[in-house]
Parts: sequence; C-alpha cells; structure tokens
Amino acid sequence: MDLTQSHNKWLSEEVLKFSKLATNQKFEFDLTINNSWTKNLLLEVDEKEKIEELTDREFLNISVSIVKKWNDKYNDVIILDGKVDMQFEPPCIRCLCPGFEKLKFNFSTCVMDSKLEDEEDFEELTTFYIDGAERELFYYENLSLNIIEIIHELVYLNKMPFPLHDEKCLGLCQQCGKDQNIETCSH
Ligand SMILES: [Zn+2]
Ligand SMILES: [Zn+2]
Repeated sequence: MDLTQSHNKWLSEEVLKFSKLATNQKFEFDLTINNSWTKNLLLEVDEKEKIEELTDREFLNISVSIVKKWNDKYNDVIILDGKVDMQFEPPCIRCLCPGFEKLKFNFSTCVMDSKLEDEEDFEELTTFYIDGAERELFYYENLSLNIIEIIHELVYLNKMPFPLHDEKCLGLCQQCGKDQNIETCSH
C-alpha cells in the first residue's frame, strides 16, 4: 500500500486509523491552511466566526512525522513529532481588537493506548521517556490517532495565554466601554 498516497484521505477524516500502518516506518507530511481543520483552528485562536475574516498575514503550517512502534508492555505506541509555524490575530484581552502573534515550536509526543491512562503508573504522568526522548504524553482510543486534537492542545499550551494588541494597551473603560486607546472618557 502506498501510504503517501493515502495520508491525505486519512487526515481529511480527521483521525488516523493506524492499524494498517507498518511498524517502525516513518512517514512525514505537511499540513497547511488549505486543510479545513487548520482553518478552523486559526478561527478558534482568533475567536473569529467566518473564514473570510482571516487576513493575509495569518497562516498555519504544520509538519508531522509519525512512527508506529510496538512495545511488549504497552502495545502500539505512536511517536508523533513535528513543528508548528503560525501567525494569527488573537483578540487583545484588554480592548478586544485583533492583536498579532507569531508562534513557532517543535513538538515531541508519544501517543499511547487510553487503557493505560487509568493505571497507577500513568495517573500523574504528562510526559513519558521513550524512543530516546522525554515526550509529551497523549492517548489514543480504538487504534485511532486524533492528530487534530493533539495539535490543538499543543497550540493552546504554547501560545500566549493573555495576548495584548500592544503592551501599552489602555483597554476599555469599565464603566462606559469606550476604547481608551482611541478616546478618553470622564470616568
Ligand atoms: Zn488592546
Ligand atoms: Zn468611560
């Protein structure tokens, strides 16, 4: 089976059914804003409603590599590595106008069977040492890898928690709601 031909189909289905994936074989691909779910992720971090509201300076590029490993103790373990490169316009927490954020990060994750999640050894774990590195730990269910969910969580872990459109933003008046960056009111 030609995996490179079929990966687009898998990803359009949003989850990767990895039972057919060959063990120890790395396969790599790129995801761009042309995928509908990456657009949706941009809309979500921007708190925008419609795709038309996205601007020219916004993008989201994701490179991913996937290797399925077999482990006698843990069964299938998916090593999911990659990088995210994005620019987006999160609303300023003070004045709510669109800000601007560049976000670039690499990630190393391992995705393990959700049955392990309830085991005592795993209860407190958020990372796991496997395949030569300490990796962020995620879980799969029913032999399905939900890449979107994982990328979504990683983006939220890495992006600025309290974006400002400008460090000196004066915010909105708490009484009349006027944007203090534009207009000073009497309150
Ligand atoms: Zn602001
Ligand atoms: Zn006011």
